[in-house]
Amino acid sequence: MILIRYLYIGVDDTDSPDGMCTTYLASQIINEFRDNGIELVDYPRLIRLNPFARHKTRGNGGVALKILNDSKADMAKRIVLEKVEKLSMFDCDNTNPGVIFYDGEITSEMEDYAFRAIYEFITIEEAEEFGRSAGCEIHKFKKGRGIIGSIAAISLPLSDYTYELLAYRSSDNYGTKRQIDYDSVYEMDRETFPDTFENIDYSENYIAIEPKTPCPVLYGIRSDTVEALKKAKDIVKVGEPIVDWCIFKTNQHTDMHIQEVPNIASMKQFGCYCVEGEVKNKPTVIDGGHMFFYIMDDSGEIECGAYEPTKNFRKIVSHLRPGDKIRVYGGIGEQNTFNVEKFQVIHLNDVEYRNPVCECGKRMTSAGKNKGFKCKKCGKKLESSKKVPIKIQRFLKNAQFYETPVSARRHLSKPLCRMNL
Ligand code: ATP
Repeated sequence: MILIRYLYIGVDDTDSPDGMCTTYLASQIINEFRDNGIELVDYPRLIRLNPFARHKTRGNGGVALKILNDSKADMAKRIVLEKVEKLSMFDCDNTNPGVIFYDGEITSEMEDYAFRAIYEFITIEEAEEFGRSAGCEIHKFKKGRGIIGSIAAISLPLSDYTYELLAYRSSDNYGTKRQIDYDSVYEMDRETFPDTFENIDYSENYIAIEPKTPCPVLYGIRSDTVEALKKAKDIVKVGEPIVDWCIFKTNQHTDMHIQEVPNIASMKQFGCYCVEGEVKNKPTVIDGGHMFFYIMDDSGEIECGAYEPTKNFRKIVSHLRPGDKIRVYGGIGEQNTFNVEKFQVIHLNDVEYRNPVCECGKRMTSAGKNKGFKCKKCGKKLESSKKVPIKIQRFLKNAQFYETPVSARRHLSKPLCRMNL
């Protein structure tokens, strides 16, 4: 039996807020591979890692390529290193590229490492030690922080995945307004949703396929299938050249960052979780429009936040009431607040306790602490201080999921349209 051997290539941390994108660098590598007769095995990967990583430029993504480990492997390595050397934004302090070559089987230890890079923080030293012990060939540029993501990008098992088609601009146009015909984006969404998703935020009239940074990406379309992406690309009209485009296989929109935990106390800061709890108080808004409420269980309580950028989602959150049982999905950020990405109603509390209604039809008021109630209209008194249960109409629905809008969605968050509900 002939054993086919592969070379895995990981690249990360090549861009800066002023330009470049590791996916563009990957597409340049792929083009040069093609010119030299080097074909990829499977699609290139774009792997999103810990959303709370401190040094990320934007979405904390690393890129991985897989090729045959044959006589052209050395040439492939040379091409990768040359491209990283030539295209990385070295002037930026925060750009510290890392490249990994690995020619063995992906082990369970490597898979565990990849999940750790999504769930936790990893130092450059830890990544380097792990990479060496796993047998990776490591190339660090400047501090080489990119090796953290590079090792994860080649190692992550993709039990669930999506695709993203990225179209790239001519360098003459970098930093200028993108010439995208928005009507055609609406048409594309009508024709291809839900096979493609996250195209438009209708509530905000926000074209989500268009990046807002000066990077080489003209647009990015996300989908469950390659066919839908190709159809979508044919529909979207642009008024500037597309110099290249590339389809990546990704862990975007899979909820891979979400860890199931038994209770609130099991969660840690900078982790992303799914946890069940009872709403403790009516949500309140603070200056800046951020909305907060607490959930609790036997183990403790945590403040949950729906921040201003989540726009209309806050209106939905405002309908939560004490006693509601919900399952929240999200992450615990800088302020130790659980940043809600979506929630499911487990059980709505549809009973509210109110003052009794008097025989004359007027709702009674308290007559003082433990002094029962009195009616301001007819003067009647009640000795009992017990409020009466009243069934209330709820806007929210049992078992229903509610999510943040597309404009506020994390790369890793699974939208409801992918949840087979
Ligand atoms: P873009 O979205 O444009 O690709 P980015 O947001 O991916 O940019 P990078 O420039 O790749 O940002 O920087 C992220 C850095 O964080 C990389 O050096 C990566 O290796 C590192 N990193 C990734 N995951 C972790 C982690 N779990 N712990 C610590 N560092 C991490």
